[in-house]
Amino acid sequence: MEKIYFTVGPAQAYPTIKSHIINALPNDIISLSHTGKDFLDIYRKVSSNLRQLFDIPDNYHILFTGSSTESMERIIASTVERKSFHIITGGFAKKFHKTAVDLGKMPTPFEISLHDKINFSKIDIPSDIELLCITENDTSTGMQLPISEFKLFKNKNPNLLIAVDIVSSIPYTRLDYSEIDMAFFSVQKGLGMPPGLGVLIVNDRSIEKAKFIKKNGISIGSHFNLISLAEKEQNFKTPATPNVFYIYLLSKITEDFLNIGINKIRQETEEKAKYIYDFFDNHPVYKQLVYKDYRSLTTPVIDVCNQAEEIFDFLAERGLIVSKGYSTDVKKHIRIANFPAIKMKHIQQLLCEFSKFA
Ligand SMILES: *Cc1c(COP(=O)(O)O)cnc(C)c1O
Repeated sequence: MEKIYFTVGPAQAYPTIKSHIINALPNDIISLSHTGKDFLDIYRKVSSNLRQLFDIPDNYHILFTGSSTESMERIIASTVERKSFHIITGGFAKKFHKTAVDLGKMPTPFEISLHDKINFSKIDIPSDIELLCITENDTSTGMQLPISEFKLFKNKNPNLLIAVDIVSSIPYTRLDYSEIDMAFFSVQKGLGMPPGLGVLIVNDRSIEKAKFIKKNGISIGSHFNLISLAEKEQNFKTPATPNVFYIYLLSKITEDFLNIGINKIRQETEEKAKYIYDFFDNHPVYKQLVYKDYRSLTTPVIDVCNQAEEIFDFLAERGLIVSKGYSTDVKKHIRIANFPAIKMKHIQQLLCEFSKFA
């Protein structure tokens, strides 16, 4: 039985990925030197594809890390001298906050209720905060925040940098880069690639901040930091041997997305999400977890009254693999990825089987 992975990461492989992997082998991609012309061309291609797909301006650098958890560490170490501020929407926002604690900074967590409308003007960000960290789509709770609401904090404090985790909302999410300074994602979620590559997008202001901190004698990390990554990027190089194979795969997947058109991908995501939410809105027992304005379109989370394990097993027997709840919510929630590799017919099949679960 062929399985369908509605898991939130690693996720269902994008349909073209297997042929891209097979085609890479005779082309010797796995033996390419990361300092040679072929790699330079691949890096240049990824960079240009991502800029086109997501409207990333020229003064933003596109850098590679090993994962998004690593990107959080690079961001905090390189751009925070003392204080960051974290909008806490769930487990991934907490991870970002803990990174700052572990690096010896003084981060402030700000808890957001999952169940109410947010009054953004009531969030008080002190003027000595250097970095605001936002998890745009928290995969643990299925809460998705409207990023443009946060630009008011930049008006109040022009020195504030904003970093946004878009790991589980890419490629659906549409960021206005003029409102933020840094964004990052991994490839094993919405892009449907195998796990093990992070992409970190940072502007010149963030690099300037790293230089300022370094000049003040504070460590911004050793071999890997925003300055070293961006310096190498100028010539499409990296500070150490990167995952050349995955960077190649990323160039191919982004090419596929460009051919399909990002607007079509976004529209399909919205149609599939509506189908999922309509189903659970009308469900007699199970409930939506998050207030209606902030429900994730890419990783919906449903409160299934502690039946997550039974539902998981029931669906798995039918070849349909969903994610259980995050961490301590493992029995309480079901998480359903709505990434581009998942088509409407898959969602229909999933919910049809779901409705047979008594
Ligand atoms: C998965 C995920 C991460 C962590 O990504 P890794 O590549 O495993 O480090 C961070 N943030 C969010 C929102 C995620 O969903």
